Amino acid sequence: MQYISTRDAGARFTASQAITRGLAADGGLLTPYYIPKLPNKALDDLKDMSYQHRAVYVMKQFLEEFSVKELTDFAAAAYGPAKFDTPAVAPVRTVDGNTHCLELWHGPTCAFKDMALQMLPHLLTASLTKTEEFKTVCILVATSGDTGKGALEGFRDVPKTRILVFYPKDGVSQVQELQMVTQEGGNVGVVSVVGNFDDAQTGVKRLFSDEDLRAELERRGFFFSSANSINWGRVLPQIVYYVSAYCDLLRDEKIQPGQTINVCVPTGNFGNILAAYYAREMGVPIGRLICASNSNNVLTDFIRTGVYDRNRTFYNTMSPSMDILISSNLERLLLSLTQDVDEVKGYMEQLNATGRYEVREKVREKLQKLFWGYCCDDKETQRVIGEMYKTHDYLIDPHTAVAFSALEQYRKETGDETPCVVASTASPFKFCGSVLGALGETEVASGLDALDQLSEKTGLPAPAPLAGLRSKTVRFNTTVEKDHMVDAVLSMLE
Ligand SMILES: *Cc1c(COP(=O)(O)O)cnc(C)c1O
Repeated sequence: MQYISTRDAGARFTASQAITRGLAADGGLLTPYYIPKLPNKALDDLKDMSYQHRAVYVMKQFLEEFSVKELTDFAAAAYGPAKFDTPAVAPVRTVDGNTHCLELWHGPTCAFKDMALQMLPHLLTASLTKTEEFKTVCILVATSGDTGKGALEGFRDVPKTRILVFYPKDGVSQVQELQMVTQEGGNVGVVSVVGNFDDAQTGVKRLFSDEDLRAELERRGFFFSSANSINWGRVLPQIVYYVSAYCDLLRDEKIQPGQTINVCVPTGNFGNILAAYYAREMGVPIGRLICASNSNNVLTDFIRTGVYDRNRTFYNTMSPSMDILISSNLERLLLSLTQDVDEVKGYMEQLNATGRYEVREKVREKLQKLFWGYCCDDKETQRVIGEMYKTHDYLIDPHTAVAFSALEQYRKETGDETPCVVASTASPFKFCGSVLGALGETEVASGLDALDQLSEKTGLPAPAPLAGLRSKTVRFNTTVEKDHMVDAVLSMLE
């Protein structure tokens, strides 16, 4: 399996090179040259296996130079009982006859980022050995909340790694911020940036392409890589859970072999839904991919019109992990739809220069065959949380609620009642304030007391990693202007 940049098919990379680099030198995303097909009987074979075995099987298709033994060890460590609070790892909960919720938040940071970020450090450190890279890798992360904590937890005290996380000062929830600033580990750093997520992400991209900084780091014995979902090592472990969800539905006889399902994903950077698309490309019978956005609905418009236009108001919503106007991973989908690196490069140049591009009609048609886009605002998000709780006794977080709203809109518009898997991306306890509000509470306790309030209200226990924040000490409190992120890097890597 070879990997290419989404902007240049000339140079070929191995999987371990792709994972080590994170981003191609031309700014493109390193992406498999083709998506392998699962053998005919694979889903049937996989349905009786554990999540860990499914992960090994799916990832092996993309990782030639990794042995099954290696991947088995990685999966055991990443998805074992020390990390996940359920042996199913990513359980599917049936909400009603044809609506199934794929719960991706049973890991150590209670958000779906754990699914990939518990695996990435294993893939990355093994890749460093395979590529004979002896410098220390410095992972830079821009986060809208959940990636930062997931990456810190995944990489803490991993030898030969440092990790530095930038988050937007006023763009994450209280619990999310506490999770990050109390992070333990000798190789970690956390800095807030004045601005929104796009400012932090653009700043990190700028650090990556800063040649002087690169040279300075090299002198100090470091090099940069990324744990953002632009890294192939992030996207790959996410394909697994879509395969796994299909297998669970088969195993539990909720669907017949070969039966088509739809998938609905609350989307920000387009990593999660891209993984669903790749699962489809591999041969999982997925019909439509429903892309759910909050008020930052740049993707809804793109899917409907073929015009990507980030020149619009940015909203801070109650689903902050989706407050994104530049969805980096869309670039990989564009490559798949166009099969033309020069075309992708052209779109990305336009995006950089003007904040906007329009895809060719042929590309738009392909896009619209598979993807349906819907969005909803905070008011609707709260309505859905309340409604789900009342009708199905099921407590969901605001991101997941955006997806349920999208599914409702999709079904209303199309009448399509195909079984649908909705990706549930965070524990509701990460967003206590918004969730309590949605359940009708007018007075919400501040900080961690809101965890108890939500527990009392619903009778559900707060996940242990969140309840445990109370006894943690704040270790980080640096804030920088977006133009001074470089200083934070240099002081961390002294
Ligand atoms: C990151 C995140 C998303 C968005 O996922 P993308 O892969 O960026 O599209 C949605 N919900 C939650 C809770 C997240 O943490």
